[in-house]
Amino acid sequence: MKFCDKCGNLMIPEKSKGKMKYTCRKCGYVSRGEKSASTAIIEEKIHEEKKVIVMDEAETFKEYPKTRIICPECDNNEAYWYMQQTRAADEPPTRFYSCTKCGHKWREY
Ligand SMILES: [Zn+2]
Ligand SMILES: [Zn+2]
Repeated sequence: MKFCDKCGNLMIPEKSKGKMKYTCRKCGYVSRGEKSASTAIIEEKIHEEKKVIVMDEAETFKEYPKTRIICPECDNNEAYWYMQQTRAADEPPTRFYSCTKCGHKWREY
């Protein structure tokens, strides 16, 4: 039993290329059932997280707290930051930064 990360509806399991995948009937969101060390899937995850940041940033970034950290792009020493739980619940939340000067965004590893 698996629920959609986006809308919380029950997801439908399906076999695809020998792996289980889950599709949300309501919003169409697709999730891989198994964890895999495959680079392709990790890259896909990072890509999804970047999209989330962009959406959040448009409305609310200015309200996030600031911290002293060096921006890798412009060497500015201050950035907004916030925590976000990644898709896998057993991973710790990831801290994201956005430079107050150039707007560059990155995540803490
Ligand atoms: Zn959904
Ligand atoms: Zn910067």
